[in-house]
Amino acid sequence: NKVWDKTVDVIVVGSGAGALTAALRSHDLGMRVLVVEKSDVYGGTSAISGGGIWIPDNHQISQLGGEDSEEKSISYLKNIIGHDPGDGRIEAFVGNAKKMLKYLENNTRVRYESQPAYADYYPEVEGGLPGYRSMDPLPFDARELGDEFEKLRPTTKATLMLGRMSMDMKQARVMLTRSPGFLPTTLKVMWRYWSDLPWRFKSSRDRLLMLGNALVGALRASMMDRNIPLWLSSPMKNLITENDTVIGIEVEKDGKTLRLKAQKGVILATGGFEQNQAMREQYLPQPSHTSWSGTPAGQNTGDGITAGMALGAEVAYMEHAWWAPSTLPPGEVQSQILFVERALPGSMMVNSAGKRFCNEAAPYNDIGYDMYRADQEEGVTAAPCWFVFDARFRNRYPCGPLLPGYAAPDSRLPDHLKKDDYYFRENTLEALAEKIGVDKEGLLNTVREYNANAQKGIDPEFNKGKSLFDRYYGDPTSPSSPCNAPLEKGPFYAIKVNAGDIGTKGGLRTDVHARVLDRQGQAIPGLYATGNTSASPMVQTYPGAGATLGPAMTFGYLAANHIKNDM
Ligand code: FAD
Repeated sequence: NKVWDKTVDVIVVGSGAGALTAALRSHDLGMRVLVVEKSDVYGGTSAISGGGIWIPDNHQISQLGGEDSEEKSISYLKNIIGHDPGDGRIEAFVGNAKKMLKYLENNTRVRYESQPAYADYYPEVEGGLPGYRSMDPLPFDARELGDEFEKLRPTTKATLMLGRMSMDMKQARVMLTRSPGFLPTTLKVMWRYWSDLPWRFKSSRDRLLMLGNALVGALRASMMDRNIPLWLSSPMKNLITENDTVIGIEVEKDGKTLRLKAQKGVILATGGFEQNQAMREQYLPQPSHTSWSGTPAGQNTGDGITAGMALGAEVAYMEHAWWAPSTLPPGEVQSQILFVERALPGSMMVNSAGKRFCNEAAPYNDIGYDMYRADQEEGVTAAPCWFVFDARFRNRYPCGPLLPGYAAPDSRLPDHLKKDDYYFRENTLEALAEKIGVDKEGLLNTVREYNANAQKGIDPEFNKGKSLFDRYYGDPTSPSSPCNAPLEKGPFYAIKVNAGDIGTKGGLRTDVHARVLDRQGQAIPGLYATGNTSASPMVQTYPGAGATLGPAMTFGYLAANHIKNDM
């Protein structure tokens, strides 16, 4: 009978969106909750994400004139996975995601808006939709957080205009792709930021939170409404069991090890293992490095997964990640994900043979698989590969940390992004190939063949721009087509692209209630997992924007429901 330092009903480990949803739901079902977070800020990757959630058959779809059903969504998911995983989690997700959202909207400060034009990632597959299922958080006023705003993980510069001003997804897209309305949108964002005078004197951080900061900010403020405690700088070290039941955790806090009792359950939401180099080497395809990930450096080191494994939990899909090609600017420890640039015209990705190997505008998750597949070819390197573009592209569009040339010409780029440290520029393709060590003939042939078709706006080799999804991030004003244009105007540019990720995907195997299963398929009493700590129900695929947070929040909600019903 060892002494407990604190006793509650539910302990939630981690403070991403799945964790905080689980905490709110547990509280609202009448349970005492404690959230413990390893970092000195809360929100995890969820806070720096787009905050989008993929909610099939959500209640806003019909209001917006769209149509969806559970059957359609389930069939889409099984079609893109390629089989029925058979564990019922697809059905559990589709049936409950919309309930989770309704619960949040009816009871908390979280608000979402369905995006009718944001296509599923495979809209042409049976059951896919041209929009609606991806939902974005509404902006959230940081004043609602009071002093807790200081402890919200700040969003990354990449999602802010000029590194300061918040943009929502629609504004970001208009600006990045130079879609119609580009100038008024830019001015509107700048005006809103600079005219917010009282706040400007207080902080350079934008008061209007968008994307993942809006989501986590709204969740945290809703926790404050309920006085749900959140301990920062309190990493979980171990799970505590009694008679094979999880009854608590050990955390480190203020230099001490504390024993925390969870009378009803522990929900692990410590993210994946993308920041753990040893685990990356053990499980993921190689080469692979923590710094290629777009997630916060040093945080998600697989702690929940290893703690579960130590109790005999089964893991699945450990070789998968939510892949996303990334670029690592000099001096940075965290990569920037190339979400948009690949779809813009006048660019291509090539391997060391100077050849294209994929549809560059495809969903980012596919590009990761493509890079590793192409890297298998004898004598060829595709992980990393090169993103090559011409002067017209450079002038019009951003690329990683490079602002478009019209806003930041080469001569005015910050020192750490100077030519040859980060990006390469040469007057001819031959010279560029030599500089980056790519086969010269290969690159010249590739560009020649691609250009001949791109002039007509087509890409017979990889069908770039054919899917509705490809065109979402294309430039609708491009004369040839939104995604394809010849690379013909020198100088020519290249940046190195790594096989990055936005989190790993494998983890503890869970059931329809988010219970962690052991190697015999039996639930480990008292132990639940959600988000990237659990093996994703999506297996290897990525159905649409928001397909990591949507399930993380849904299974967090379901974990709380099950703990309550099990009481
Ligand atoms: P996290 O949100 O990372 O939370 C895990 C938390 O656990 C962290 O705060 C961590 O510090 C903490 N922790 C770790 N170990 C311990 C421990 N031992 N004890 C206590 N706490 C611990 N997905 C979408 O669905 N939609 C999007 O729009 C989207 N946009 C993205 C944009 C970017 C740039 C990136 C990088 C990712 C994006 N993603 C998006 C992916 C998504 O953000 C992640 O998959 C998701 O946040 C993972 O949630 P999680 O709860 O598993 O982990």
